[in-house]
Parts: sequence; structure tokens; C-alpha cells
Amino acid sequence: MGTLYLEIVTPEKVVVSQEVNSVVAPGSLGEFGVLEGHVPFLTGIEPGALRYTTGTTTEYLSVTNGFAEVSENKVSILVDAAEKAGEIDLERARKAMERARERLAKDRAKATDIDFSRAELALKRAIARIRVVEKRN
Ligand code: ATP
Repeated sequence: MGTLYLEIVTPEKVVVSQEVNSVVAPGSLGEFGVLEGHVPFLTGIEPGALRYTTGTTTEYLSVTNGFAEVSENKVSILVDAAEKAGEIDLERARKAMERARERLAKDRAKATDIDFSRAELALKRAIARIRVVEKRN
């Protein structure tokens, strides 16, 4: 196994802290993959699916907004929220998606831009969680 270390941290807890072979994450400029020896860089993280492989096992997680710092042998992800696929409450995510869609469907004139941005972000988080559960099954 390569000596790439993955750390995924939220304000609440350390979600992942272990050696992995590779990481694929949803960056603000698109999905990016990291293997040991990657050139160092910093990027934003968008709501989406993150996966990492250890040996023959690939784990999926849902992440929300945050940052990633990549160095030659470490990937540090700091996000508002992250859940392993098995921890995602699908029903909750579906309800969150419905709520966000209802808000977005309201007459635009009656809602502020802030309401719309918040609903759009909530929709992205919910879709990310649902996709991660679907990928795992
Ligand atoms: P909701 O409207 O259902 O609260 P949200 O997108 O507003 O969803 P977040 O603010 O992203 O929720 O997360 C708040 C906390 O709840 C975090 O700790 C996150 O990991 C957890 N969380 C949110 N949705 C889910 C879910 N569907 N399954 C498991 N944990 C969740």
C-alpha cells in the first residue's frame, strides 16, 4: 500500500483518519484524484461523493462544502459535514431534497436571493447524500 494518509474532519468530529491507496473527491473545479506523491495543492470542496480505496475496498462518503489540502503524502479535507455511506439517513435526505425543491419552485419574486441560494445549497447536499447511498447499493 502507498503511504497516502487521508483525514476528513468536520467541526464536530474526525470522520476518517487512516492510510489509503487513493482518494477521489469533488473539488470546486471538478472531481480530482490523488495518489501518493501528488503535487501539493489547495482546492475548495463542493457537495458530492468522495471515495477512497484501501487494498481492494472502496468506501464512499458524502461531503458538503469545505476545503482540501493535498501534499505529497497527505490529503486533508475540512468540510461542514461528512457521512459515511452507511451513516446516511436516506429518508431524511429525500425529505431535505423535497423541501429544497419546494422552496426553489416558489415564485422567485416572493423569495429573497438568500433564500434561493440556501435552498440550492440544501438541494446539492441532499442530492449528494442520495447519490452516495445509491452508489453503495
Ligand atoms: P437537513 O435539512 O436534513 O438537516 P442539511 O443538509 O441541512 O439536512 P447539514 O447542515 O448538512 O444538514 O448537516 C447537519 C448535520 O446533520 C451534520 O452532522 C450532518 O452530518 C448530519 N446530516 C444531515 N443530513 C443527514 C442525513 N441524510 N443522514 C445522516 N446525517 C445527516
